Amino acid sequence: MNDLPYLHGETLTKIPPLGSYLPQVQKGVVTSWLSGNLSPPDWVLCPFGSSPLPALEMARAGFRVLIPVHNPILRFLIKKQAAPPSREALNSALVTLASSYKGTDRLKPHLLSLYETDCPQCGRKTSGASFIWNRSSQELVSKICRCGHCGEKTAGEAAPADKEKAREFSSRSPTYARALTRVTSPSDPIRVQVEKALASYPPRSVYALFTALNKVAGFNLPDEELSNLEVLLLHAFSRCSQPLVSTLQDEDADSLEEDTYREENVWFAMEDALENWPDGAQSIQVTSWPESPPEGGGIAIYPGRVKDLIPQLIGFPIRAVVMVYPRPAPDFWSLSALWTGWLWGQEAAAPLRGILTSRDMDWPWMTQAALVTLRELSDALPDQTPALGLMPGIETSSLLSWTSGSLSAGLTLENLAVDPDHHQGQSRWTINPLSKPVSSQEIDHRAVIRGAGMAALQSAGEPAHTLSLYSAGMAGLAGAGYPPADSRMAEAGDYFPRLVIDFEENIAYRQGFLHYSNIESWWHQEMALDPTPRSDQVEMKLVQSLVEGGGAVEEKQLYQMIYDAFPGLETPRAGLIEACLVSYGKRETAQLTAWSLKPNDQPASRIQDLQEMEGIISAIGTGLGYQTATQNMGGNLTLVTWDENGKAAERFFISASGLLSKVINNSGKDNGNGWIILPGSRAELIHYKMRYNPILGDIIQKKWKLIKYRLLRRLREEGGITKENYQERLCLDPFTSDSPQLPLI
Ligand SMILES: [Zn+2]
Repeated sequence: MNDLPYLHGETLTKIPPLGSYLPQVQKGVVTSWLSGNLSPPDWVLCPFGSSPLPALEMARAGFRVLIPVHNPILRFLIKKQAAPPSREALNSALVTLASSYKGTDRLKPHLLSLYETDCPQCGRKTSGASFIWNRSSQELVSKICRCGHCGEKTAGEAAPADKEKAREFSSRSPTYARALTRVTSPSDPIRVQVEKALASYPPRSVYALFTALNKVAGFNLPDEELSNLEVLLLHAFSRCSQPLVSTLQDEDADSLEEDTYREENVWFAMEDALENWPDGAQSIQVTSWPESPPEGGGIAIYPGRVKDLIPQLIGFPIRAVVMVYPRPAPDFWSLSALWTGWLWGQEAAAPLRGILTSRDMDWPWMTQAALVTLRELSDALPDQTPALGLMPGIETSSLLSWTSGSLSAGLTLENLAVDPDHHQGQSRWTINPLSKPVSSQEIDHRAVIRGAGMAALQSAGEPAHTLSLYSAGMAGLAGAGYPPADSRMAEAGDYFPRLVIDFEENIAYRQGFLHYSNIESWWHQEMALDPTPRSDQVEMKLVQSLVEGGGAVEEKQLYQMIYDAFPGLETPRAGLIEACLVSYGKRETAQLTAWSLKPNDQPASRIQDLQEMEGIISAIGTGLGYQTATQNMGGNLTLVTWDENGKAAERFFISASGLLSKVINNSGKDNGNGWIILPGSRAELIHYKMRYNPILGDIIQKKWKLIKYRLLRRLREEGGITKENYQERLCLDPFTSDSPQLPLI
């Protein structure tokens, strides 16, 4: 178990439609997994139906994907993204809407006038882009304008006239009542959830959205054009709902205070769809189950609950299962009911009643839902069906819930790998395995969790992230046959809280684990740092890959080479790989997706540097009257000592790499002390390592001084070094970063 590599995926640079509500999966992972297991047009099942993008990706790669989707909004999203409207088509929908009439006005100027305000820059009238409200006082505080006259984007305080204009709209208006009635009747049990969802919109937004919605409902247009208008509306629905504010990757979002929310201009929000909807993607066919998509690949949607689909799968040739594990998302389900009712009426929203009236949607509930679904699924699928379990947005709760739910359903865990930096986890499973780990009634969960945590740290040789320890613990439990067979019929919802306690009590200070909460990492008080910890091994592997690659190597290939070398629980953090890449690599100008070794880091050039540095530091020592000696420590590490009367006065380690643990480990008791001479281009990487290995960081900061190559070269030019001033002069160019920013992650 656990010898399979993490699969490299690309993080999306642009938020996909409704992206802030949906699991954030990386591009390329599912197809990379499928290419090793299946060939088109094999059938793949996505039982959780929570994420459109992987299904679309697999279908575009030629596979036939069966996906049960209970949520009408997600069904709409899959269909429209499978055959995305062109930018022109969306623009034409916008023009149709803009030129329709509201009374004697055209709709566009009417909606824009709702937000009319004075530009903070030039004072002329413009339609405000966003308005910031104070949540507790319900007061309009400020506004952001993109002025059509002066062309400036400026923020300014809200004027009394702005406040008065906003107050013209109320949650007790007839529009508000109609916005509710369109979704549910007053006696409907889900009325409360729908009211809550509606309350996430400022009253002015409800008026504007509903005015646009009523126009669209009155149009008599072909289906295609109508659905393009629905794309615009849905985009505005999601953009204008307040919970979106905190997740918006907007330059202004940072400057907002916690206790505020942001009201968006509804017309601009619809225009925004043109920028944010994917354009130009290859069209694929979407059918309604049981109609099959063509041999060339496509998606069959089952418009209902997976539970009702499963009995139809017996004997059906499903070759693999891709699970994008969902999170409990009560807010998204409530908003989905609201949007469904708005777009397609009460009847369309009715099927969501079941999920909205179910008990609290939380992690115990999720664990139980995963268990039930996967157990029923196992009954319908053939033996040895491979499954990929993607874990987007992973943290400890979701990790424990998803894995324990799947284990309780009888799936065998084959591999677990996590990347805490991108909050991604990848698990591999076998459904209906031929043999299972032997479960023993006596398994001591707590001992397994502690032992696995220790083993994870031992293998890393340096502190590791909480998720790495918890993954090791879950993999350990799975290997020990968790949960015992006779308890499998128990509610999985009961396993989850028990597991949370077991982990919290055993990966803990009283068990000897040391927690660094600022970096969410752990170490153990009984362990010693390894002379070649995993981060140093990753650095060496990356350099080797760049050297062997000769010229340019594709970035995704480089990452995959590292993941292949450190599989399963050993998977290194993406931030570390990036820090190594930036230190040693340069982006190829022709293809920004490829890297090559920096000229300075070519092996021959580094050997020359080492000799040059050794020469300078020896010459300085001799000039000051010391006896100097040089020792080759192996692996491009040289030690120069300055001795006085047979006793060591100073030690200088000259290194070309960022492998500091080796230096410290080579320096005798108490981790030694002295000087380390390094290329300046290692600064970021070394700061990364010191930050994520606080023990190493502490030793370096207290006992060692780092010098850049370039400072020694400068001192050689300048001369004038004396016994009295050399220490001060060697510290003139401190080893801080050359570039203002640390690596992105
Ligand atoms: Zn202006």
